[in-house]
Amino acid sequence: MTRVIAVTNQKGGVGKTTTCVNLAASLVAIKRRVLLVDMDPQGNATMGSGVDKNALELSGYDLLTKRATAAEVMVKTDPAGFDLLPGNGDLTAAEVELMNEIGREHRLRLALSDVRDNYDYILIDCPPSLNLLTVNSLSAADSVLIPMQCEYYALEGLAALMNTVEQIKETVNPQLEMEGILRTMYDPRNSLTLDVSGQLREYFGDKVYRAVIPRNVRLAEAPSYGMPALNYDKASKGAIAYLAMAGEMVRRHGTKKTSSAVAV
Ligand code: ADP
Ligand code: MG
Repeated sequence: MTRVIAVTNQKGGVGKTTTCVNLAASLVAIKRRVLLVDMDPQGNATMGSGVDKNALELSGYDLLTKRATAAEVMVKTDPAGFDLLPGNGDLTAAEVELMNEIGREHRLRLALSDVRDNYDYILIDCPPSLNLLTVNSLSAADSVLIPMQCEYYALEGLAALMNTVEQIKETVNPQLEMEGILRTMYDPRNSLTLDVSGQLREYFGDKVYRAVIPRNVRLAEAPSYGMPALNYDKASKGAIAYLAMAGEMVRRHGTKKTSSAVAV
């Protein structure tokens, strides 16, 4: 079974893109078939995967406006090895073009339906606001993965986000589930981190991943080389943390690989 996961948080700078790129690479390392979809006009996931957002022949724009299929837009990343549906500033134009279209919330879901079965995991990097690109992402997704920093205002932001998820469930995607909450830029020496972390566990229980992502300079450096930390410095704390998180996520879904699953 393919799992489509929207990586989302209305707050910027919490590690959505870092999580998408590094989780995608970690899933490839444990032999999963992965597609990453860049739905953020900033195109950071595209650049961080080693694809030049300024030199795209086709992008998410063409996908959402039905000018091209997912198979046509898709590029293979090197050295990371996952497939990418790249995005750039043109996504903003797609949003404007779709404004008066019927079914505008479901364009991404429709586009992914052609290629969905080719993957074990499809990760969607969402923009940091609730716009039509985010609604398309949440409509296409089976679940939401929320990266968050354990800081003072985090819980407040999370309440707003849960509200958004509820609204999406009531309107465009009743099946949407909570995939998990990932603590990013984690610093156990900070007592506030531990406080917030405790409250998260109280509220979300085992939806909070045991694996945490520490603040690690390799994770911040790797995008400028167009690669995930795993390819840039595989022994780095950041790369290892995302591998652990990927392992935990896959174990939650059961140990069977989709690619080797046999229909009976
Ligand atoms: P978002 O996509 O939510 O806006 P990013 O993934 O782009 O967030 O992260 C914001 C910034 O923080 C980026 O410069 C990124 O390189 C850096 N960063 C993200 N996670 C970590 C981490 N665990 N350790 C150090 N730097 C990080
Ligand atoms: Mg981002």
